[in-house]
Amino acid sequence: MSTNAAGQPKRIGVFGGSFDPPHNAHLALAKAALEQFNLDVLHVIPTGHAWHKARVLSAPEHRLAMARLAFGNIERVVVDARELQRLGPTFTLDTLKALQTENPGCQLYMFIGADQFMSFGRWHQWREILEIAIICIADRTESALTQTEFDIYAPHNPRFLILKLPLMPFSATQIRQMMASGAATAEDARKFVPESVARYISHHQLYGTG
Ligand code: ATP
Repeated sequence: MSTNAAGQPKRIGVFGGSFDPPHNAHLALAKAALEQFNLDVLHVIPTGHAWHKARVLSAPEHRLAMARLAFGNIERVVVDARELQRLGPTFTLDTLKALQTENPGCQLYMFIGADQFMSFGRWHQWREILEIAIICIADRTESALTQTEFDIYAPHNPRFLILKLPLMPFSATQIRQMMASGAATAEDARKFVPESVARYISHHQLYGTG
């Protein structure tokens, strides 16, 4: 049994994303997750081949480097590169199972935004995911979540919890577009991404900058 200092089963958070780039809402979510769920550790996991995203993602090394810059200084966060190292498509269930094997008896908490929750029923092996993890959902826009969305899963005895997070209604897509169009000055970019990430983006001329 994998226990924490209090002798209780380890509470392990999982926060996956393309992080292309990681932005301030991701950071706020990670910090809120650690605090509200009293996690022993939060694995921030850049996704490998994102089967559910139509767009080609930035190179894994850039996304990993930016995730390390963005999350690296938060205590109890581990930037976990395992999905980037896996060949072929990566599935959340495989990652959750691997974490369980590494930490026998732990409790897994998976963190997702409301947009991901809306499509959760189309995730690969979502039933098995519900069996092994508590799903914690952060809202992204006002009242996006209704009881009906939760009711669909009732027969599967899901464990859903809400992560309380002030709405931060912006996305990596908007940030990339702003940068590509030249609409964002370096000053603007800092409102949306950590300064180290803004510097990395312009140094490597990502998203049409430079
Ligand atoms: P993109 O616009 O490229 O699709 P994104 O901004 O949605 O990117 P992802 O890296 O895909 O960012 O998100 C990782 C996780 O963070 C997802 O579960 C997503 O729902 C959540 N998330 C992203 N932005 C927010 C936000 N503004 N508020 C709450 N959750 C968010």
